[in-house]
Amino acid sequence: MQLVIKNLSKTYPGGVRALDNVSMTIPTGMFGLLGPNGAGKSTLMRTLATLQTADSGSAMLGTLDVLNNKREVRELLGYLPQEFGVYPRTSATVLLTHLATLKGVGRNSVERREIVAGLLERVNLYNVRSKSVANYSGGMRQRFGIAQALLGDPKLLIVDEPTAGLDPGERNRFYNLLSEVGESVVVILSTHIVEDVKELCTNMSIINNGRVLFAGSPSQAEVSLEGRIWAKSMSKEELRKCQSEMDVISNKLIEGRPVVHVYSETNPGNGFAAVAPNLEDVFFSQIKHCSRVA
Ligand code: ADP
Repeated sequence: MQLVIKNLSKTYPGGVRALDNVSMTIPTGMFGLLGPNGAGKSTLMRTLATLQTADSGSAMLGTLDVLNNKREVRELLGYLPQEFGVYPRTSATVLLTHLATLKGVGRNSVERREIVAGLLERVNLYNVRSKSVANYSGGMRQRFGIAQALLGDPKLLIVDEPTAGLDPGERNRFYNLLSEVGESVVVILSTHIVEDVKELCTNMSIINNGRVLFAGSPSQAEVSLEGRIWAKSMSKEELRKCQSEMDVISNKLIEGRPVVHVYSETNPGNGFAAVAPNLEDVFFSQIKHCSRVA
């Protein structure tokens, strides 16, 4: 099963063109949709989740026309939105059972109880299933969010910016959970965090201003910049000069001193050394060179 999106466009009433002729093919497994805030990720996710409409274009999941079959899509969709809303003071078991009932999962209460227990086990919340979800940590809430998204065995799972605000340990647990899920279904992970895509995704797209700037695997993305990224550790004064004279892709402080990555087709000299491009270089250079690439 794969999801094929063709020429999807959406302009909001205010005139913002949030999706501009977006096409991408998303196979089974983890797919990363990487873009800065405002790129159009949530618009795309909500459109695929049938929560809003596009102006034109199509999305086919196998033979199912996603944009014109709301009911069928919702039956095979799991969705973890950016804001899951208010977490009530009920236990995980009670809340998940309630959501299962709303979604029509399980033929009777016995079957539902088994499904709910199985899902809480799968997301590693079984031991805390009787605790109030309102008191869960950020990571536990996100895992609960995945459990509700997995109700009804979805074939398409959409997770919108799921790791924002998680600490490194929680993020790792969440990664492990998602990568297990991704073995059998199409998972679209929308994020502005490069690390998420690098750790998890076999395929990815970079989008900005509603347009696809890159499509491929993270390693293909890195290879595409081979020989064109140069690094140098420098003083803050030198950084200012460098920023006005060179094509600076990123600068990070390492032990308090800026380490600058620049884009250059040829060796810029002046103490810069060639480095192997990483996904962050690809992301920042694509965003910066957006108009050139598009
Ligand atoms: P992302 O999820 O990548 O941050 P969004 O899809 O939320 O991006 O937003 C894409 C663009 O569309 C932004 O410029 C945003 O301000 C605009 N936008 C999003 N939702 C609406 C809306 N309901 N009405 C008008 N503009 C919107």
